[in-house]
Amino acid sequence: MLLRHTPTGLNERSALTINPAKTCQPVGAMYAALGLHRCLPHSHGSQGCCAYHRSALTRHYNDPIMGSTSSFSEGASVFGGQANILEAITNIFTLYDPDIIAVNTTCLSEVIGDDLVQIIKKAAEDKKIPRGKFVIHANTPSFKGSHVTGYANMAAAMVQYFAKNTEKKHRRINLIPSFIEPSDMSEIKHLAGEMGVEYTMFPDTSDVVNTSMDGTFRMYPHGGCRREWIETSGDAQATFAIGRMGALPAAKLLDTKCKVPLHILDLPIGITATDAFVNALRTVAHVAVPDSIREERGKLVDVLCDMNQYTYGKKVSLMGDPDILLSMVRFCRDIGMEVLHVLTGTPVGKFKLEERVKEMCGPDVVFRSGLQCDLFMFEQLIKENKPDLIMGNTYCKYMCRDNDIPLLRIGFPIYDRIGHSYVPLMGYRGGMHLLLKILTILMDRQDRDAAEENVELIM
Ligand code: SF4
Repeated sequence: MLLRHTPTGLNERSALTINPAKTCQPVGAMYAALGLHRCLPHSHGSQGCCAYHRSALTRHYNDPIMGSTSSFSEGASVFGGQANILEAITNIFTLYDPDIIAVNTTCLSEVIGDDLVQIIKKAAEDKKIPRGKFVIHANTPSFKGSHVTGYANMAAAMVQYFAKNTEKKHRRINLIPSFIEPSDMSEIKHLAGEMGVEYTMFPDTSDVVNTSMDGTFRMYPHGGCRREWIETSGDAQATFAIGRMGALPAAKLLDTKCKVPLHILDLPIGITATDAFVNALRTVAHVAVPDSIREERGKLVDVLCDMNQYTYGKKVSLMGDPDILLSMVRFCRDIGMEVLHVLTGTPVGKFKLEERVKEMCGPDVVFRSGLQCDLFMFEQLIKENKPDLIMGNTYCKYMCRDNDIPLLRIGFPIYDRIGHSYVPLMGYRGGMHLLLKILTILMDRQDRDAAEENVELIM
């Protein structure tokens, strides 16, 4: 028993967090920054923070994640980190030659109160930023929010620093995804591309953190959204915020700053949410849905109909990030599963996640969100009412093992399996992968648990 100290029976807590169901803001900010072409993320804080942010992303993506640090010591911790970051900017442009440095703050630099706007202005005045190069920043205090908040803040910083309204409108649609896998970003682009929609996606980490191996190390892989494309995002005909928590701040800012109409969509996981996404593209971009996409949808519907008896009525508990949870709950309902628990460590604020989850699942579903909603609480909940399947990140493996419940790994981080950065969950093709994974887990379990006389050869 790895977690033998977790008692049954829920204890409400107001201060203590045990095994958080989230990571820290700069992890998300660093991930978003990687979605800019030739951008080096920079962590304004201690070396330890940066080491953690990089290692979290490196372990999840199995690719080396580049990032630099202001390397605070005792002096910077007391007097502020301006001198450190000014020296860092010179060193980074000299040694690593990025086009953009994307600075995220940390708990320490936020507590000190370093003013990044003023520091970046000073760097420009001191001619530390070469012509044609940029330094941008996002405030990412990790005593608030989570990696999703940090991602959203850095995506908004891209708009703040680069987007312009030149009054020369064009037909492109801005696609701003929440914190999702590069494979899912590719899948969203695939849907838009098949429909003939002209788009700009940012952040876009596809072909940055899931590159192919060709024997050549590239500090800046060929993927990532170009700065010039974000500049023109202010003249686009519309913005799609794909996932409210992770994408809305950037999309709202684009609306406020450049008057680009905003559409808020759920992440396209499963049939219902993908239908809504495809329909929104169709109506806003005035395009038709091609046969290729109808085919993809039809295949998913076919497997759903064939195998519904294996998912119908199965109980599931989910933990993870709000945007992914919402669409995963919808998908679970689409395939007839009964949702018992939904838990996120990310505070959801005004995002009416609980109401939407209850709308889909009924009043009995247990919903928890916020800093004290941690893995300890999640295990207490699943001990009280045991599901047939848990969906969550790698950290759920201990409670799954102790309670003999199968785990479908979704969300962030996933350290102990591979494939998530290459194989999507989104779109109709991603829905197929997801459904096949769920079916395999449930049918393996049925095979394992069946009495000898009930083992079926053909399922
Ligand atoms: S100190 Fe703050 S920013 Fe640094 S790793 Fe810890 S939570 Fe993240």
